Amino acid sequence: MRKSKIKYRQNKFICPICHLELSMHDVDKNGIVVCPVCGAVIEVVDVFGHKIPIIHDVEIKRPQPLYRLHTMATHISIGLLPLAIFAQIISFFLNWFKGGIYTSSAIEFEQIGFILLTITFLGGLITFATGWTDWKRKYRGRKYQIITKKIRLSVIMFILLGFALVLRNFSGPLSGLENCLYFCVQLISISLMAFMGHLGGFLVFGK
Ligand SMILES: [Zn+2]
Repeated sequence: MRKSKIKYRQNKFICPICHLELSMHDVDKNGIVVCPVCGAVIEVVDVFGHKIPIIHDVEIKRPQPLYRLHTMATHISIGLLPLAIFAQIISFFLNWFKGGIYTSSAIEFEQIGFILLTITFLGGLITFATGWTDWKRKYRGRKYQIITKKIRLSVIMFILLGFALVLRNFSGPLSGLENCLYFCVQLISISLMAFMGHLGGFLVFGK
């Protein structure tokens, strides 16, 4: 095993109740972590370099996520961004078949893509706000590595999508390179979105 991988593993331990993989980054200054999935209150002790989780209690009274709004809101963006990209691909081919002359249908598909991208961005804001509320309520604002990662990735995604919207809306007709950038930024954003959903899955299903 590579050294970096060994180091990575040494920082991890498994919740004895729900088997969620937790990290030493999740442990507070008293050496305690509350499992975000099952609520086990775990003390992590170091035995000859091995992280041994010991359960002291279970946090029973936990508020549920607010009407499941976060999981519902995330579908606005994850549902619409592929359609936005698809509309732009159709526009590209309509334009290409006509030898680079923009027909009215190519322009319309491009505009549909832009409108869907705008709704994706707004849906992302709702998803972020509801995720933040759940973090403060159910997870009591504790700094879990999974949640910290999701927040950081969201910020990157908002910067990328915001950049795409500004580029498309304020810089006049896009050149070939700008168009390519506009498209790539959306592809990266959809990958980030999928990865954030994957991380969120750990908080729903455990591991
Ligand atoms: Zn657990």
